[in-house]
Amino acid sequence: MGVLRHHVAGQEFGSTERTGTIFNPATGAVVGEVAYASAADANAVIAAAKAALPAWAETGLIKRADVFFRMRQLLVERQDELAAIVTREHGKVLADAKGEISRGIENIEFAAGLVHLLKGEFSQQVSRGVDVHSVKQPVGVVACITPFNFPVMVPLWMTASAIACGNTVVLKPSEKDPGAADFLVRLFEDAGLPAGVLNVLHGDKVAVDALLESPDVAAISFVGSTPVARSIYQRGTAAGKRVQALGGAKNHMVVMPDADLDGAADAAVSAAYGAAGERCMAISVLVAVGDTTADALVAKVAERMAKLVIGDGTDPASEMGPLITREHRDRVASYVTGAAAEGATVVVDGTAQEFEGDGFFIGVSLVDNVKPGMRVYEDEIFGPVLSVVRVGTYDEAVALINANSFANGTAIFTRDGGTARRFEVDAEVGMVGVNVPLPVPVGAYSFGGWRNSLFGDSHIYGPESVHFYTRSKVVTTRWPHPSESQIDLGFPSNH
Ligand code: NAD
Repeated sequence: MGVLRHHVAGQEFGSTERTGTIFNPATGAVVGEVAYASAADANAVIAAAKAALPAWAETGLIKRADVFFRMRQLLVERQDELAAIVTREHGKVLADAKGEISRGIENIEFAAGLVHLLKGEFSQQVSRGVDVHSVKQPVGVVACITPFNFPVMVPLWMTASAIACGNTVVLKPSEKDPGAADFLVRLFEDAGLPAGVLNVLHGDKVAVDALLESPDVAAISFVGSTPVARSIYQRGTAAGKRVQALGGAKNHMVVMPDADLDGAADAAVSAAYGAAGERCMAISVLVAVGDTTADALVAKVAERMAKLVIGDGTDPASEMGPLITREHRDRVASYVTGAAAEGATVVVDGTAQEFEGDGFFIGVSLVDNVKPGMRVYEDEIFGPVLSVVRVGTYDEAVALINANSFANGTAIFTRDGGTARRFEVDAEVGMVGVNVPLPVPVGAYSFGGWRNSLFGDSHIYGPESVHFYTRSKVVTTRWPHPSESQIDLGFPSNH
């Protein structure tokens, strides 16, 4: 079992003085070691990305686009291998791992349209004999810092557009499941991406601090927990960098009395317990409007929970895998065991379920009568725990959502188009679903939350990523005949 090292300019690189352990969460077994970069390692990787920048920025757009067409093909062909890496290091079931690959492919497809995306604007004759056009140029070296929960999709959210726009990239994946990033960079190089355009730097805070401190890093895309996102945004922008930092979430799903309650229960179970709740768009709060709705919904959800199959993600029968680490599993359990003391009702206690072996498994939990102020409500648990908050009216549901410190995604389940449309306007949240519990935008739109779910003003991937990863320049052109030349100290006016 070797140590996974950084991938720089097409080569393995760096010291292995400090390393971290990679576990298979389904068995608890050690499956590898990963190098943790020193500041010197990080600076060498940044230097390699900087060196590759001029040639890549000058590469013709059609040639750049070719890389993405080939990359798409390779990702489709090799998705089973990549999914196996994700399941081994993250624990999610293979079908879910393939799901994130397929969503990541959308970002590659979007980037393949770069010739269109990088078009500027042109206005002829803004003044007599004067034309204006705008161009989009690369920002430079971009650092992409990613979380453990989507080891393929989130790196592709960032790297596809950053590279398409002519930048070079240092990708710092989560140290908990770094294998997918190593696979991706090699695949990109097989697809024709020149060495040095995408580099992978492994490690922890030391690596991230070096990226924040380097004057050669122009922009940072970050996805992870809110405290780290906030700090990266503050430090990065103070250092004059462009930063988009996506944080945590607490996503509410409102169920109106007129909703199809069986459909709503199916959606709630899927969105709350899929990937063991370790999704930033997971539904963690079910907001039932009216006690009749709440009672029926709780019964229907509990009935469905009893049938879920939890096990090793490589077993096709498994619908949900383990949590990422033993410590995280214990932290998630503490919210369930503490909920009754806070005044909530534990309807299904997943901590009571027993599993064979040393995997980091936990059962699914349902907690009713949850209220704002309780830990189980306020914190992002990031595990298979669904809270039910009972409200009397639609207005109370909206007020609850808008008062929450997170605002990543939300959804409403109703048969009433008028209520759905009102919700779309009223919800102060970045992504809204109508009878869709996980409203993750398709790759042609951008993804991002509000409040503590995103620091910065650019959402990630899609059209906003082209804005984030380019600097625009406006060029004003005039070709006067030499005979028209004259001195004029007045401020140029077009009127
Ligand atoms: P995390 O914040 O612990 O780690 C994210 C990245 O930051 C990793 O690469 C990690 O090495 C690095 N990091 C961790 N602590 C750091 C520190 N103190 N200083 C500098 N860098 C540090 O997040 P995680 O546990 O890997 O991922 C789960 C979190 O990510 C959840 O909060 C989830 O909601 C969030 N997330 C958000 C989105 C979104 O789009 N908003 C998407 C996926 C995940």
